[in-house]
Amino acid sequence: MLEGAPEVSRVFLPRVALQRLLDALAGSGFRCVGPRLKEGVIVYEALTETVALPQGVHDRQAPGECRVEEISSPRQFAWANGPQALKPFLFAPREVLWRVVRDAEGRLAFREVQPDVKPIAVIGVRACDLAALALQDKHFLGGEYPDPAYAKRRENLFIVAVHCSHPAATCFCVSTGDGPRATHGFDIALSELDDGFVAEAGSVRGKVLLDALGCSAAAAEQIAQAEDEIAHAARAQSRRLPGRNLRDALFANLEHPRWEEVAERCLSCGNCTSVCPTCFCSSESEQPSLDGGDAEHSREWDSCFTRGHSYIHGVVVRSDSRTRYRQWLTHKLGSWHEQYGRSGCVGCGRCVTWCPTGIDITEEATAICGGAPL
Ligand code: SF4
Ligand code: SF4
Repeated sequence: MLEGAPEVSRVFLPRVALQRLLDALAGSGFRCVGPRLKEGVIVYEALTETVALPQGVHDRQAPGECRVEEISSPRQFAWANGPQALKPFLFAPREVLWRVVRDAEGRLAFREVQPDVKPIAVIGVRACDLAALALQDKHFLGGEYPDPAYAKRRENLFIVAVHCSHPAATCFCVSTGDGPRATHGFDIALSELDDGFVAEAGSVRGKVLLDALGCSAAAAEQIAQAEDEIAHAARAQSRRLPGRNLRDALFANLEHPRWEEVAERCLSCGNCTSVCPTCFCSSESEQPSLDGGDAEHSREWDSCFTRGHSYIHGVVVRSDSRTRYRQWLTHKLGSWHEQYGRSGCVGCGRCVTWCPTGIDITEEATAICGGAPL
């Protein structure tokens, strides 16, 4: 887990020194992962050289649309986010939980499978994804039975955040209170300027690493510019949810005609739940070998948009897109408050961008809950 946050002081990291940061992380045993441009999308991949970062690239996002375009800029983080968040690094899309084998006498033996976890440092994490990480921590680590695989990966995670200065049109982290500034949950946070980064440590190990780079203190003008860019990113967001706690408004409108209207567009494809950094539903299944000698029991991401998700005793409880979308929205923005003390939405906008029919959670919530967005 992250250590306690040290006193905040900011240093200036020239752009060339970012490579030294990667090298220092690698030298400390971390596999570095960072944003890379792949097939027209920004995704997290192994990162050993900063030249592989998406320099001079901006993403143009809209409901159902994401285009990456070149811009004339030395910046490497002048984009909002890609379809991935931190989720796949901690909550594996698919993993074997245990195996059962039959011995020579025909007896069955159950063997727990421990994930092979290596320390990983993720570069370029946005504030919304840190907020999502805090929610996933509550889900997987809170309570009586913490998830061992998640816990192991979480202990081995180092986070280099980058405050967001170029939000997409689909972003609305300001309205959920989760961005664009990364305020907690990181080891190091960077603000990108044209010639480098204003860097601050958020943990003791982050400070040790930054100190080892031997950077000088950031100048007042550099800090002011970094602050201005974050403030500008906040002002640039136009999407809003109609409130931070929509529980009562949603449950008072379970028969609202809008559920039917959105269902006419919803394909029940589950893209929204796959890209959502806070969705955590999973299903479990057995894969027996053909000779019956052993079997694997695995867990994989599920979605409230699948038939199987609401299959109980021979009946699919939510058999149509109306009830599935309603389940998703009322849980995400409503009953999460009872479970986790806040909404399950951190305003990353991914479900809006990656929905093939451009369904926009802010529009739907506003139509159903009524009133102008806050
Ligand atoms: S519901 Fe949509 S905007 Fe909210 S956190 Fe999930 S993907 Fe992001
Ligand atoms: S809301 Fe969009 S992304 Fe989600 S299941 Fe429906 S069509 Fe797919």
